[in-house]
Amino acid sequence: AQVFNFSAGPAMLPVEVLRQAQQELCDWQGLGTSVMEISHRSKEFIQVAETAEQDLRDLLKVPDNYKVLFSHGGARAQFAAVPLNILGNHNQADYIDGGYWAHSAVQEAEKYCNPNVIDVKTNVNGLMGIKPMKDWALNDKSAYVHYCPNETIDGVAIDEQPDFGDKVVVADFSSTIMSRPIDVSRFGLIYAGAQKNIGPAGITVIIVREDLLGKARKETPSILDYSVLDANDSMFNTPPTFAWYLSGLVFKWLKAQGGLTEMARRNEEKSSHLYNFIDNSDFYRNGIAIANRSWMNVPFQLADGELDKVFLEEANAAGLHALKGHRVLGGMRASIYNAMPLAGIQALTEFMADFERRHG
Ligand code: PLP
Repeated sequence: AQVFNFSAGPAMLPVEVLRQAQQELCDWQGLGTSVMEISHRSKEFIQVAETAEQDLRDLLKVPDNYKVLFSHGGARAQFAAVPLNILGNHNQADYIDGGYWAHSAVQEAEKYCNPNVIDVKTNVNGLMGIKPMKDWALNDKSAYVHYCPNETIDGVAIDEQPDFGDKVVVADFSSTIMSRPIDVSRFGLIYAGAQKNIGPAGITVIIVREDLLGKARKETPSILDYSVLDANDSMFNTPPTFAWYLSGLVFKWLKAQGGLTEMARRNEEKSSHLYNFIDNSDFYRNGIAIANRSWMNVPFQLADGELDKVFLEEANAAGLHALKGHRVLGGMRASIYNAMPLAGIQALTEFMADFERRHG
């Protein structure tokens, strides 16, 4: 049977991209060598880097007054880089706590400032939901507000569009970037570890409004300083060139598919197929309020948790891999990033229906 990989990461790549990379691996552009072996300062690689940036700008319609930076360190490095770069003279920032990753960002920010933690989780008819943005108690003294629009582990999304006047909005888009269009102009800073919808682990995308550069605290490590990255075209230290190249192939793939509007259409279709199936069954359950259900990560539980183990074993044997929920939550989780075709969701729901018939 065809294998469908429902892993939350690292790295879910379209099979067409993997095949292209395989074909080009040993002899890239007729150079007789691999793209990862050429100098990052060569004109050939600079072309890769510039094209990747331009394609990302086209896909996300990034306004001209934003810099696009590529760095090492994943999203967790940004948990530190954000306060170090953006706090300026402030000692306070608003941190919206909507789940595991937003909370992890708080723990890192505590090293550099006084985070004003705003717990926005709420109970909606027995389901886990998020308070509307108008009820987020932001503090006038804070330098920015940080939130995570898609909680990869909890399967919780905040799709409401931020509108907080002059307040700088910072968002961790790691597990939802490229899944649909984003109005970048609403944000001061967007960052994302690449390894869900962009490319392999090891590269991070930062989209930052120009006026936020140049305020880094003096103790900021140079590799985390946005101005230093910008002044060096994201090549202050040796960049993760292979990940950058693969991300560029994914951007080309996204464009060829019809861009982010088409991705949104597909992701809406895929996720609603799965949620509808779960909602129409008493055997499976998703505990997230409808308005906050993630298009990317769908956690679900069996009514009888005793069956988890056999569910996972049988699913795996049927070619439906990596459905085990995160260790923090247990249960199941289907991560259905851009690279997951609708056929994968259909195979999953057919398996789930069959499992329910046999064990329900
Ligand atoms: N933020 C979100 C939303 C994530 O999903 C993850 C990882 O899955 C992280 C942060 C941590 O990213 P990294 O491992 O790249 O530091």
